Amino acid sequence: MGRTTLIEGRYVVSMNATRDLIQDGAVLIDDDRIVATGKAADLRAAHPDAERVGGDRFVVTPGLVNTHIHITGEPLTRGYVPDDTPFEENVFEWLCPLYAVYTAAEERLSAQLAAVEMLKSGTTAFLEAGTIRFLDEVVDGLGEVGIRGRVGRWVWDLPPEPGVYRQDTDVAIGHLARQLRELRSAAGGRIGAWSILVGHTTCSDPLWRAARALATEHGVGLSFHMSPARLDPDAFIAEFGQRPMIHLDQLGVLGPDVAITHCVHVDDREIEVMASRGVSVVHCPTTALKVSYGVTQVGKMPEMVQAGINLSIGTDGNNASNYSDLHRATYLVAGLFKDARTDPQMFPAETAYEMATLGGARTLLLQDEIGSLEPGKKADVVLHDTDRPEWRPLLNVMNQLVWSADGRSVHTVYVDGRRVVDGGRMTTVDEERLYADAQAAGEEITLRSGLPDRAKFPVW
Ligand SMILES: [Zn+2]
Repeated sequence: MGRTTLIEGRYVVSMNATRDLIQDGAVLIDDDRIVATGKAADLRAAHPDAERVGGDRFVVTPGLVNTHIHITGEPLTRGYVPDDTPFEENVFEWLCPLYAVYTAAEERLSAQLAAVEMLKSGTTAFLEAGTIRFLDEVVDGLGEVGIRGRVGRWVWDLPPEPGVYRQDTDVAIGHLARQLRELRSAAGGRIGAWSILVGHTTCSDPLWRAARALATEHGVGLSFHMSPARLDPDAFIAEFGQRPMIHLDQLGVLGPDVAITHCVHVDDREIEVMASRGVSVVHCPTTALKVSYGVTQVGKMPEMVQAGINLSIGTDGNNASNYSDLHRATYLVAGLFKDARTDPQMFPAETAYEMATLGGARTLLLQDEIGSLEPGKKADVVLHDTDRPEWRPLLNVMNQLVWSADGRSVHTVYVDGRRVVDGGRMTTVDEERLYADAQAAGEEITLRSGLPDRAKFPVW
């Protein structure tokens, strides 16, 4: 045994096969791995030399897994786009011009701000939506913060604009090949590149095929956006005479290593195909609410789960979801379809929490490494402090994790056995400096973009 730590809690939420909630429990970690879980008293007696952390006022959980987040392009312009902007205007008139003016240093800073927000709210691993341009700097910044993630430059080849990040097919494939060759594993394996496409209608068939082939060749996942709104199915039907999932399946794109974000406007045949190919679907409820996707009216997340599709949860970009606290998105997952279908079975707190942990781990293809507190898995562990009003009294831990708590009660976080958040503070980066830099960069980026200040109330 090397460096051992015994993490104790009033409850250990294991998320193991039998979903054990261990009262007065503990997790023993040795270096970067979990070596035992059990009653705290037993583990204390067996390992008297281990460092002891936590205690009766803590709930110990696995780190959450956020399976769709824009760590560049959006964190430094968080909340800038008015929330009554129509979808297309949002993307083309606001977000694209903002994405275009980021420098490499700003993208690095943006990724660090996103990673710090995730860690401090209990997310220890994420799948990136796609770095706009400067992946090397982003990987370097993430390595410093200490989070786990799968990342990749955002590629596309169809629309000619905006010119600043225009790509043709060869350039896009070149970006994918380069990142999978050079960034397959970074920061001690915590960070690794995937094949990540913008998706929607921005990719030619040759690019889809190449991204699929490269993911297979390098043994990594493939991720993209599809069908948040009717624009995607309408465009695919107009061009190919069939819906997006059917077309992608015919191209050979779909498989168990594929994570598709949104999938709000899909039909029953598409669900059948997605289920038969074993894809994961990433549900981003906050985006659906803020950008009016209609998820509660037409979304088929309950049918997808019923069909056996792995559903996980993302927070998306900070102009579609101003926060990156996965607890708050998980709360919505537990609630939206209960109301939409007038059925409390959609989805119970336990099911929503499974999506945020085990479902996320499966989406990241890391189901053997993370998502639960079990011997042999990575020591990605979160301690919630329950000495807070929203946690008391503590009578039903799973209900309260989803319906009462959010990331504010996250006290201490381990990733790979390293304590990256301690008593609510980052141990790896200077937070005050990060926030000051983020404020300055956000003001500069919005100014440089030439976009108007759309505050509706007078500012003086
Ligand atoms: Zn997105």
